[in-house]
Formats: sequence, structure tokens, C-alpha cells
Amino acid sequence: MNKILSILEDIFSKNYVCSLCLTRLFYNPNSKKIELNLGKKLKNKFKKYILQKKRNIIIKNLYKNSKVCILCKNLFFNIKKIILNIIYKIQFYEFNTFCVGIKIPSDIIKIEDEIRTKYEITSGDSLKSFFNKILCRIISKRTGKKVDFYNPDLKIIYDMKNDKIVIEPSSIYVYGRYIKNKRGIRQTREYCDYCRGSGCSECNYTGYSKEPSIEGYILPVFKEKFNAEDSILHASGREDIDVITINTGRPFVVEVRRPLKRNVELKQIEDEINKKANGDILVKNLQFVNRNVMKKIKVLSKYEEKTYLLKVKFERPVTKQTLDFIVSQLTNRVISQRTPTRVLYRRKDMVRYKMVYSVEYKQIDKNIVEFTIKCQGGLYVKELAHGDNNRTNPSIASLANMNVEVLSLDVISISPELEKKLNLS
Ligand SMILES: [Zn+2]
Ligand SMILES: [Zn+2]
Repeated sequence: MNKILSILEDIFSKNYVCSLCLTRLFYNPNSKKIELNLGKKLKNKFKKYILQKKRNIIIKNLYKNSKVCILCKNLFFNIKKIILNIIYKIQFYEFNTFCVGIKIPSDIIKIEDEIRTKYEITSGDSLKSFFNKILCRIISKRTGKKVDFYNPDLKIIYDMKNDKIVIEPSSIYVYGRYIKNKRGIRQTREYCDYCRGSGCSECNYTGYSKEPSIEGYILPVFKEKFNAEDSILHASGREDIDVITINTGRPFVVEVRRPLKRNVELKQIEDEINKKANGDILVKNLQFVNRNVMKKIKVLSKYEEKTYLLKVKFERPVTKQTLDFIVSQLTNRVISQRTPTRVLYRRKDMVRYKMVYSVEYKQIDKNIVEFTIKCQGGLYVKELAHGDNNRTNPSIASLANMNVEVLSLDVISISPELEKKLNLS
């Protein structure tokens, strides 16, 4: 105790420190109950000690209200106001868990470091952890919500320098699959031609073109139901406007950014999208997942097995021998594929190596054949058919030694085991 008293004597001879900062410097952070009065008790003890010594200037410093605490710049003096402000702001958000953080100007941290070093004070808590601890307790008590530092629904950040409270709701991730039954629907939304995304009367102030798209069907419903700032589609692979995706459908994760609502019935979202799309697309199996699932889907989409139904027209009638030859040459074959000419404008020109696992065929006419191709994700299947001027090698065209035209392409299966691999239902 004498050591603490002489430290205080030195500090208070020049500066003012508030009672809560004294508590913070000398309390035991590991005890279950925070003894908030510790600072006040220390001040009383110190006052008696100083009175004996008759050092009146120090007593003045001890209680002078107009002085600013050198350790917290009177942060704790304003704490009630800050808490009221936070309680007001978070009432607009649905959440179950939260955490509190604080941005502290570096000069305040520096002063504390200097004082702790000078007087060899290793006890207590830093301003940051003490503030967080106190606020977490009070807000949890007032709202009944739980504190979670690892994966909170809401991050509450107090910016000390600007005296500002920032609320950061964490993103929500929803997994699902979509089926696309109709050709002519893009995967991604295009910006409105008139306003380029800023919103105008032509696009009903959405910023997007009215042309149907997977994103256009799915994302606005998520945004509205979660009352979110934005929603983003992360699909397992891309698909062209003229390709349909049936049977298993295509896995995706929707990231809902800055949602005000969290307790949303996913079945309602599913129903609404499906009603709006009127059978052109269909979403199913929606479920809440964590952020990792989105990352995994992105990685897996490059390797996962996909099965396509490819209908082509050969330049001339094609024989069974030729078709058998094509199958034998493509089965378990690594295909070398330079970035297709048609996507060169937006993709880097490079060579990819992708695997074809199996090929089956059904001859529909003398020169029309339907292939069922099982291959690695990321293979450009249209180019596997026509060869893209030998940029894809081998190809059905090069093996048949004649030109091949793609009539249609359907995706009939994408990673059918994906849910099992990701431990989803
Ligand atoms: Zn203070
Ligand atoms: Zn517009």
C-alpha cells in the first residue's frame, strides 16, 4: 500500500487521474466482481495520508473537477452518455450476441505506457480492455444479450477521438442451390444502361437492368427480408446465359451485408423467389451457414465434379467408330485449355488443365449427337466441343476432324455430395 501511496503522491503533485482510472490501474482483473469503488477508496486513503503530510496542493489536484484525467481524457466521466447512446442505436438491430470495442488515440496510449513504465505498474487493465469489460457487462445486463468476441452479431465500436458510436452488424450467410429451367437468363445482374448503377426512373431506382438474371431474382428478396444494405451471390461456378442448370441445381451462398434483421424465416424467402421467378428458376435447400462455407465453396468449385449434357451438330454425318474413338480419347483425359476467345476480354489469357472423367453419347441424327460429360469444375465445355481454334486440346472437333457446332448445353449435376462434405443438411 505504501508503494501505491507514494506513486499517487508523485502523480497527483502534477496531474489529475479519475477514480475509475485508479480502479483500473490497481484492481485485480482476474477476480469475478469488478470492485469499481477501489479508486474512490484509494483516493480517500491517499487524502488522509497527504493531510498528515500537509501537502495541500495535492489535495486540490485530487478533486478538482475542471481538470482532465490524463489517463482517459475524462472518458469515464462521459460513460453514462455513451451507454445511453449505444442502447439507443442498437435498438434498430436484431441480434443475439455482441461485443464492444474502442478506438483510442495513440497519444492517450502513450501517456499510460509512460506512467506504467515510470512507476512499474503492471497490475490492472489497459483503458481498452477495461472500457470493453465495463460496457459489455452493462449492455448485456440492459439488453439481455450475450457477449461474444469471436463471432458476434453486432460489433459496437466507440471512436474516442470523434466521440462517435459505430455499429457493425456482421454479415449473414445463407447456403442453397438454384435450378435454372430457362435459357436466356444471365447469372449476374447487369447495371442499368441509363444510370450505370446509380438508380433512375428507367430501372425503378434499383440501378440494375430489368433483364432477368439469377442475381436479379434472388438478391433483392434477401436484401428486403433481412432489411440489409446489400446482398451478394457467391455461386459455385459461372454459367452462360444460354445454359440451363437442372437436377441437382447449382450451389451458392448469399452474403447479406449489414442486416437490420436476423431472425428471418428462410422458407418465406424461398417461396417468394420461386413465386416471382414463375418456374424459370427455383431455389431450394436454403439454410444458415457460417462464413467458412462460402470460402470452401469458392475453392471447391474449381475441383468439384460437374456433369453436362452437350448437344452438338457435326459438319458431316458421323459414324459410330468416330464417336467411340472420341469417347476413348476423352475418358480420364487432361484437357489443355487456353482462355476461350469469347471471354478473353475479361479473363487473363492463360492455359488451364482440367480433367474429363467420363463421356457417354447418344446419336440423335446422322450428324446430331448428345454427349453426357462428367468433368472437373472450371472446364469450358463449349470449347471442348468446337476446339476454339485449337486453343482447347483435344476437342470433339479435333478428334472427329471436322467442325462442330454447339446446339445446347445443360448442367445436369454439380457436386451432388457437397452438402455431405460441408456437414450441411
Ligand atoms: Zn480516467
Ligand atoms: Zn437506372
